[in-house]
Order: sequence, then structure tokens, then C-alpha cells
Amino acid sequence: MDQMLTQMLVEKLGVPKEVYDNLQKGDLSTSISSLFPDPQMAMLVNSMLGQITTENETSEQRVDPERALANARQTIRELREDLEDADTMLHYFAEMFGVCPFCLGWGKQCLHCKGRGVLEDTFPNEEELLAWVKPALKKLGLRVVKLGSV
Ligand SMILES: [Zn+2]
Repeated sequence: MDQMLTQMLVEKLGVPKEVYDNLQKGDLSTSISSLFPDPQMAMLVNSMLGQITTENETSEQRVDPERALANARQTIRELREDLEDADTMLHYFAEMFGVCPFCLGWGKQCLHCKGRGVLEDTFPNEEELLAWVKPALKKLGLRVVKLGSV
């Protein structure tokens, strides 16, 4: 990444000195991990910056730093919105299936459910779950039958 652009990002975003130093060394991943503790967000930003760097390296034109900063902010804003939408969707599924909203029941070392896959007060939402799976089961010639009713 261009040094002037990096310095401008650091100043405008109020990035701590150690993160700036990591950026100077070219250690982008560590810097991103410090700035974005959420691993999904860090991965998205890392991916996005990788694309920007690749595009800049292949471009023969110099990019206006102010414009690049504005574009980066817009991209970050859009990625945050996409991440929030994805998070909302995951929480919806977690509620519907009655599983831990943090690991969706798959985290054997999840701190929230302690690897059980469910939280104390979670229970599947029967109505929504059936509305979700019934059409697929019908296409397969299957149906849901309550235990003890057959
Ligand atoms: Zn969990």
C-alpha cells in the first residue's frame, strides 16, 4: 500500500502507533486483527484490502489519496452493512433451530455455550422451523410427524 495513503488512513482513523508500525513493516494482517477483533470482520477487511492493493499495483494511474480514502470508507461501510445483515440472518437461524447464536451449535470450544451447542434458555421455534423445512421435505416426498402420533 502506498506510504502516503497509509499515513493518511492512520491519521484520519486514529490508528494506534503499534498498528501503524505494523503497517509500516507491511504486516497488514496483524494490523487488521488489532483494529477488528471480530474475526469475520477482520477477514472481510483483509480480503478487501488485498483486492485494493492488487488493483493499485496493476493500475498505471496514481489514485487521489482523498478519493481512495473516501472509497475505502464507503467499502468498509458497505461491508459492515453486509456483515450486519449476515449476522442478523445467522441469529434468525440460531433462534429458529434453538442453537447457540455464537457457534450455531458447532463450536466444541465455544465460550458462550461451553461446547454444548445450545444456551440454557434456547429452544427451537417449531412454527418457523416447519415453515422453513416443509416445502423442501414435500419435494422429497417426506413429511414431519410428531413423535408418539404415529
Ligand atoms: Zn456456542
